[in-house]
Amino acid sequence: MSKKYDVIVVGGGPGGIGAAVTAARNGMSVLLIERYGFAGGMATAGLVNPFMYYRSNTDANYYLPSPVFMEIVKSLSDNGAADKEGKVFDDEILKILLDKLLIDSNVEILYHALVVGAVSKSGAISEIAVACKEGRKDFKAKILIDATGDGDLAHFAGFETEKGRKEDGACQPMTLCFRLGGVKADDWDALRKELNEIYMEGKARGEISDPRENVLISRTLRPDVIHFNTTRVIAKDGTVSKDLGEAEIIARKQVWEIFNVFKSKSQLCMDAFILKIATQIGIRETRRVMGGYVLDANDVINAKTFDDGIARSSYPIDIHNPSGSGTVIERVKGGYYEIPYRCIVPKGSKNLLMACRAISSTHEAHSSLRVMPVVASIGEAAGLAAVEAIKGGISVSDVDGAKLKKNIFRK
Ligand SMILES: Cc1cc2nc3c(=O)[nH]c(=O)nc-3n(C[C@H](O)[C@H](O)[C@H](O)COP(=O)(O)OP(=O)(O)OC[C@H]3O[C@@H](n4cnc5c(N)ncnc54)[C@H](O)[C@@H]3O)c2cc1C
Repeated sequence: MSKKYDVIVVGGGPGGIGAAVTAARNGMSVLLIERYGFAGGMATAGLVNPFMYYRSNTDANYYLPSPVFMEIVKSLSDNGAADKEGKVFDDEILKILLDKLLIDSNVEILYHALVVGAVSKSGAISEIAVACKEGRKDFKAKILIDATGDGDLAHFAGFETEKGRKEDGACQPMTLCFRLGGVKADDWDALRKELNEIYMEGKARGEISDPRENVLISRTLRPDVIHFNTTRVIAKDGTVSKDLGEAEIIARKQVWEIFNVFKSKSQLCMDAFILKIATQIGIRETRRVMGGYVLDANDVINAKTFDDGIARSSYPIDIHNPSGSGTVIERVKGGYYEIPYRCIVPKGSKNLLMACRAISSTHEAHSSLRVMPVVASIGEAAGLAAVEAIKGGISVSDVDGAKLKKNIFRK
């Protein structure tokens, strides 16, 4: 009979790390299950950069999203692996630092393990099925935390989910991030202008098939290495293996086209080379697991706060067009909005919490809360909620969200 953990966290992205470290540091036995051989989720496997968070003069908590996340930023900075604002970071060093953080926090790690099923009855998950290299294994825990980004565990356990925008269920496009080295990037504005012009000309000649409207580039820690968040694949479902593979083939073709057009047409990219293509395509949106409250666009734009608000965000609504070109941005009016505890408890759940972007929200609200620092703080709140539930011997839906908020945001 396998050991029963206090907490099992599925997924080692920003949300899962926050949840696992927080629960373990509060005395829980914690197992983190992650399909890759390293943690970080989109920050490492998806090559997503930078951390999107803003500074504000109005409230310290606004720009200090969560203690574990800020500890990761500090650790990156201390090791020369972040810029001075703590936003741009080195993803390879992040992998190393996350291993250390998890181990030092007494989190048991199971990498190379994919959760593929769950046994659940009346809102309680009794067992989860994991595809390990050696075969299928079953694991048990008092509290399960779904940090898969896609709501895989909640879906396997039969909880209610939604996907995509209301009218047709279409999700935001996927993007395979990549980096070019050897770029002459001393004059950033000139580089951006030149690459955008050459990109549009390449599209007009039919040499670039990417439907995106422009080139989205950002700096890295190396002056000659440029990060591209520019490929775009639409109408694929990030929860279906066949779609994921097809999306990556399409996106790699886009990388190759963009690279060849830039190398042949741009003076600034004459010596450029493909330094890195992300391990997996970046998934912006898949399932959202429905809870006792569904956060919507009005809550985000009007900076709504809640008695049980356990995480805060100032990031705008940011929807990359699910149908092709164009991106919609709508800013938060005022400082920040809050995410209620009810959004991380799936409807009817006794022992499952959400600690990832797949929380109870609309397509529009999800487009704002999905950024890494916000998801990290959702994860930390989920970790604390798991501790409360275990210590109190209560179900996750009976955890006092208002008390949780006071613990998280006490000055
Ligand atoms: C192209 C792109 C650009 C973005 N740009 C930015 C940006 O500039 N700044 C920013 O802050 N945010 C950005 N984001 C958003 C952000 O990266 C993600 O929304 C965020 O990482 C979500 O965190 P998460 O923990 O919910 O999921 P993820 O980061 O996806 O982590 C989930 C983890 O769970 C693992 N997993 C999944 N399923 C299973 C399973 N069944 N069993 C075991 N393990 C599993 C995965 O391998 C992964 O490690 C971007 C996203 C994309 C796709």
